[in-house]
Amino acid sequence: MFLQGTYNGWIVALSGVIAILASYSALNITSKISHAKGTTKYFWLMAGALVMGSGVWSMHFVGMLAFHLHAAVKYDVWMTLLSLLASIVSSFIAFYITMPKNVNWIKIAFGGFFMGSGIVTMHYVGMAAMIMPVELSYDRTLWALSALIAFVASYAALLLFLRFRNQSTSSGLKWLSAVVMGFAICGMHYTGMRAARFHGHGTAQMPDGPAVDYFLLYGVTVTIFLILFVSWGAMFFDRHVLERMAFLDALTGLPNRNEMNRFFESHHGRDEIGVLFLDLDQFKAINDTLGHHVGDLLIQEVGHRLRRFIDADRSAFRIGGDEFLFILKRCRPEQAEQLAGDILQSVKQGFRIEGNELYVTGSIGISIGRLGESDLLRKADTAMYKAKGLGKNRYCVYTDEMGIKEVRKMEIEKDLHQALDRGQFYLVYQPKWNVRRNDLHGFEALIRWEHPRLGLVSPQEFIPVAEETGLIVPMTKWTIEEACRQCKEWHERGIVQPVSVNLSAKLLQTDHLMEWIPGILRDVALAPRFLELEITESMVLYDIQETVRQLRFLRDLGVRISMDDFGTGYSSIGLLDRLPLDTLKLDRLFTQDLDTPSKRAILQAIVLMAENLHLDVIAEGVENQEHIDYLTQLGCYVMQGYYYGKPMRNDDMEQWIRAPR
Ligand code: C2E
Ligand code: CA
Ligand code: CA
Repeated sequence: MFLQGTYNGWIVALSGVIAILASYSALNITSKISHAKGTTKYFWLMAGALVMGSGVWSMHFVGMLAFHLHAAVKYDVWMTLLSLLASIVSSFIAFYITMPKNVNWIKIAFGGFFMGSGIVTMHYVGMAAMIMPVELSYDRTLWALSALIAFVASYAALLLFLRFRNQSTSSGLKWLSAVVMGFAICGMHYTGMRAARFHGHGTAQMPDGPAVDYFLLYGVTVTIFLILFVSWGAMFFDRHVLERMAFLDALTGLPNRNEMNRFFESHHGRDEIGVLFLDLDQFKAINDTLGHHVGDLLIQEVGHRLRRFIDADRSAFRIGGDEFLFILKRCRPEQAEQLAGDILQSVKQGFRIEGNELYVTGSIGISIGRLGESDLLRKADTAMYKAKGLGKNRYCVYTDEMGIKEVRKMEIEKDLHQALDRGQFYLVYQPKWNVRRNDLHGFEALIRWEHPRLGLVSPQEFIPVAEETGLIVPMTKWTIEEACRQCKEWHERGIVQPVSVNLSAKLLQTDHLMEWIPGILRDVALAPRFLELEITESMVLYDIQETVRQLRFLRDLGVRISMDDFGTGYSSIGLLDRLPLDTLKLDRLFTQDLDTPSKRAILQAIVLMAENLHLDVIAEGVENQEHIDYLTQLGCYVMQGYYYGKPMRNDDMEQWIRAPR
């Protein structure tokens, strides 16, 4: 005889709620693995599979408790546990396949297949775990239908969820996918139950027990809610604790750049705020010489000191390696400057780190403006660079003038790249004059840049940029080629004069010159003695031996070498006899200072020394007759300066040469 079961409607509803809640939690938990790294990934995967597996399992048992078969039923413990395991393992596989970032529909189909098989296996193993005095058989069509529901609905649920998992606004759609997954579980279960046929033996009819085993019902329900509760706890922890950590700097415990961005994005108002951008001056050197470990400890200590300046209106951030930022609410300029001064003072105190006594200083840029102005940070940064430029260990308040300079510098940096290809450079030539022979002594080639928008840009402005970016190398090659070509052309027109070209430090750090110069001279058929290269003392200091080697090679070719701007900067007189030189060019500042007796005495000594070293002396910056008189008295006869001629283009040169003098 067939036994007919009856359902308790409330418990059926409970089973549906369990299925949906478990699906929702499991999907959300596992979706975390798409941004998680390393072992955290597996943590979320395990947690998701556990919630999903036990959810399916609980739903099944609550569903079974809703079903009252007028027969006593017990469960085989091992088979029951096996059904739980099947459910967890298949959820794990399904999530493992589908949850990483780039999934396609094939992966989702596989995922749906494993999820579905898990639900089906769980159900029928769970059924087999029943120990009861009745026989169980299944209707094949309904059995197949139950499996189909599990597969299709699992696939649909995964598809939906994966489509919307990254949109925080679509939590409704996430719930929808949980409902579809719940439908996969419950639909399968109740269809599976319809497929079940219970055959009684008549005599085996048991006396009616209580309609529902409440003990089991509460047990299973409490367990599943406990699991859900724990999983929500984990997600809460993740959102509110781990995510918070993403906004803190691990080394100093100060808020990090993310937090700073969040501050600027989320705070708007009419209040004036001050932004202080602090950058340590010697950090890179410390990192390079003492190692990153010491560097890290130093940053930690600096962070510690900066903490003292934090209060309700002042927050500090670590926004990069050795960069810190202060934001001052309701800020008056004097307050910002006061704080900057205090910070610099505090940073300047020595640090004891692992037995090293370390001294660092900082440079601070300050900008003040309305909250919500997007460029406050950039302005503070600009002012910080200004502070560095002024010699470090100081602060600078941003001014609009700095901004204009900054914009111009950026434009120069951006456009310098194409200037050579676009033919925007040209050379001008300044004559050198020998007063004793009253004759031309040669020309110095000086570069000019005709910028399409900014007009004529001075080499003082773009040469440093070219040096920073390495563009100086091709630029110098062009200059030497152009100057040699021009020089050759003068020779052909009867102006037989040498030309000098300025070098840059970058060039002596490679072998470029030794490669180029013989080739260039050969190509234009210019005798080497007509080319002169101007170096400066700072270039030599980089690597004296290497410089000497290259200069000697060039000088052996016949090229002449002169020391430019002599007397400024390093004044390494001790090096003069080691360097293969032909000429000393006295810096403009000497000429300008000749009315000071002490300066005249120094110059006298230099001229004497040069004579003994068999060096020619050229005075730069000669602007008037007085200069000429002083210089000739001191024994210097070759001069260059506005008095004789400004740097000029080749076209103007002919006129200059023909002019009576
Ligand atoms: P420098 O090599 O000392 O060049 C002399 C500078 O003094 C030139 O400025 C020239 O115009 C200026 N000058 C000449 N006579 C007088 C004078 O009587 N009074 C005053 N006040 N100034 C005078 P310029 O052309 O602006 O060049 C500036 C600097 O830029 C040069 O100083 C040189 O260091 C660099 N430079 C120029 N052209 C090149 C180049 O082709 N390559 C490299 N690497 N540097 C260059
Ligand atoms: Ca020069
Ligand atoms: Ca010079």
